Amino acid sequence: MIFSINAISAPFRGTQLVYLLGERADAAPAVRPLSVGSVLGNGSILSLIYRLSFLKWSTFMQTALWKSDWAESRDATPFDVTFQAADERESDGEGVIEPETFYQSHVAVMTRQYSKSSRMQMPTLNHITSPMMYICARLMGKFDYSILRPSPSFHQLDDCVFTTGSETSMGEEYWANDGVVPIFSRWHPLPCRRDHCRHLETTGQPDEDRLETPRPGIWYVNQEDDAHHMSLVPLWTNTDRQKQWWKRLGRWLSTVEENR
Ligand SMILES: [Zn+2]
Repeated sequence: MIFSINAISAPFRGTQLVYLLGERADAAPAVRPLSVGSVLGNGSILSLIYRLSFLKWSTFMQTALWKSDWAESRDATPFDVTFQAADERESDGEGVIEPETFYQSHVAVMTRQYSKSSRMQMPTLNHITSPMMYICARLMGKFDYSILRPSPSFHQLDDCVFTTGSETSMGEEYWANDGVVPIFSRWHPLPCRRDHCRHLETTGQPDEDRLETPRPGIWYVNQEDDAHHMSLVPLWTNTDRQKQWWKRLGRWLSTVEENR
């Protein structure tokens, strides 16, 4: 049995970024030609990189890479993070909560609503210093979920004309993102259930207000506002936010240890 799980920006339920980078929205795991994904996933490009890096790869490996179509297989990371693959995993029973395990996830958000009438999101300007993250967040914040086939389980209106999100029952969590993954996907596997998850607002709250004694069998979701996918990990940036986050994580682990 796993005793505790801490998930940091994990794409449990997929991300629209994979479609923006090249995965076919209507025929995954196929990849659109001339897209970022097709270039990055091209076996001949990898083979060339390995040759140029003077790595001692065998002729067999280089030939295999040259002819590889791994990027368009179901057994590859790009397909793993499609909504289709996430739905398949969940329908197979993955992500079901174990009653004896402690769970916590950390969810950064770098976007805000376009307007009060729209659920679409846009990154805040202060993140423009991370241009790639900013561009991805902007594209993800206005992603059209109606183009996906098969339609993901959370998208209720297959045949509706999609404009601003106002026609759908989907909340802003499907467009709010950290530049890589929408927030709904990082909360926890499977949809929210009152008895299975607790969503806590992290930013701006004193420690004593947001910490409660964790209980096993409950997902605790912590949101970090005004932060992108890399704000907390993996790089050490020595910011007050990062220091506080690691201290909170240490306290949580200690509390879990005391309550096992
Ligand atoms: Zn939830």
